[in-house]
Amino acid sequence: MPEADLSASRRCVRCAVCLPHCPTYAMALDEAESPRGRLALMDGYARGILEADEAFWGHLDRCLGCRLCEAVCPAEVPYGALLDRIRALERRGGRRAPRLHRGLRFVAGRPWALALLARTLRPAAAFGARPLRRILPSSLRPLVDLAPHPLPHPWRPPTGVALRPAHEGEVALFLGCYARLLRPEPLRATLRVLADLGIRTVIPPRQTCCGALARHMGEEEEAERLAAHNRQAFAGARTVLVLDTGCLASLRSALVDDDGTASAPPEIVEASSFLDRVLPARLPQTRVPMPLLVHTPCTQRSLAAGTAPVHRVLARLGFEAKPWGQGAGCCGAAGTHGLLHPEASAALLDRVFTPPPPEGAGIVTCNIGCALTLGARLEREKHTGKIFHPSEILDLFWDRPPKASVSVTERSQE
Ligand code: SF4
Ligand code: SF4
Repeated sequence: MPEADLSASRRCVRCAVCLPHCPTYAMALDEAESPRGRLALMDGYARGILEADEAFWGHLDRCLGCRLCEAVCPAEVPYGALLDRIRALERRGGRRAPRLHRGLRFVAGRPWALALLARTLRPAAAFGARPLRRILPSSLRPLVDLAPHPLPHPWRPPTGVALRPAHEGEVALFLGCYARLLRPEPLRATLRVLADLGIRTVIPPRQTCCGALARHMGEEEEAERLAAHNRQAFAGARTVLVLDTGCLASLRSALVDDDGTASAPPEIVEASSFLDRVLPARLPQTRVPMPLLVHTPCTQRSLAAGTAPVHRVLARLGFEAKPWGQGAGCCGAAGTHGLLHPEASAALLDRVFTPPPPEGAGIVTCNIGCALTLGARLEREKHTGKIFHPSEILDLFWDRPPKASVSVTERSQE
C-alpha cells in the first residue's frame, strides 16, 4: 500500500520556491513537470484518487532526480527519497525500467561484465563512431555519442597501491563503475597526488558500483545487493574517498545511513573536499596556467559542499577559476536519463552552453556523467576546451618531486 511510503509528499506547502530551480519546469513551463506538480501526483497516487497511467508515469520519468528542488525547499520535503520510493512502487507494480537502463545497470554492478565490456569496447571503437552509429539500433546511438573518442585505456590497479581492505589511518578509494572504462585518468591522477602528499591509500578489491543507477530507478533489490557488497568491501575503513558526486548519496546510504547498525561508519568524502582539507596553502606550479571554468554538477550542489572546495583547491595553484553554466541547471546527464531522453537532455545542455566556454578553456567538474556529457559536446563542436577533474589539474600543474616510497607506475605506462 503506497500511502505510508509517500506521505511526506504532503509536507509540500505549494510555496513555489522550488519552481525556478527545476530544469524540467524551466523547459516545459508545465506544473506537472515541476517538483510541486510531481509531489501532487505522488499524493494523488498515494490516496488512490489518481490513475497511474502512461501520462502519470511520463511526468515522473522525465524528472532528472537532480534534487535541486530539495536543496531549496523551506518545508524540507525529501523529494529525492520520495522519487526513489514511487519508482520502487512502479517496479513492484510490474512497470519495468527501460531495457537500455537495465543493460547499463546490469553491467555497472558486475565487475566481470565491466571487464568484458572493456575488452570489447576497444575493438568496437576501432570501427569509428560514424560506422558504429549506422549499425547499432537507434536506442544505443546515444551511447556512442557519449563515449570519448578515442577511448581511454581502461583502469588497471597501479603498481605500488595496496589492493586490500583499509586499516586505521588509511584512505580507501572508491573506483565507481563506468569511470573505470570511460574516465579512468582522474582515478590515476588522484592516486598520484595522494601518494605525493604522503597519504596512505588503498583500493578495497571487492567494491562495486555505488548502486545509484539502480536506486534512482526504483530497483531496490539490486541497489541493496550492491550496498551489501560495498559494506563488506569497505568494512574497517575510516575514510572513503569518492571522485564523482553522483555516487556520494548512494554510497552514504549503503555504508553510513543503512539501518543505523554500522558500529563505526566511515566518512564518505568527496575528493575535492578532502584535498581542500589536506593540501598546503600554496603549491608551486609546473607550467603557465590555462583559463579554468568550474561546472557544478547537480549532485554537488544538492548533496555535497558545492564548488567552494574546488575553487580553493585550484587557488592553491594560483588559478582564479570562474563558475560556468551555473544558472542553467542540469546538463542533462542525470544517470541514464540523458541516454533515455536524448532530445530533452540536448535541450538542457544547450542552456549550459549559452554562452559557450572560451576556446582552449579547461572545464573542471566533479561528476563523470557531466564530464562525459560536456566532453562529448565539446568534441562534437570541435571545441578546443577540455574537461578535467580537480585531481587532474593538481596532478598536471603541481610541481613536486614524486615520493620514492610509492610508485604509481601507470603514469609511465601511458
Ligand atoms: S519548495 Fe518545497 S514546499 Fe515549496 S512548492 Fe516546492 S516542494 Fe513544495
Ligand atoms: S529532481 Fe530536479 S527535475 Fe526533478 S522535480 Fe526536482 S528539480 Fe525538477
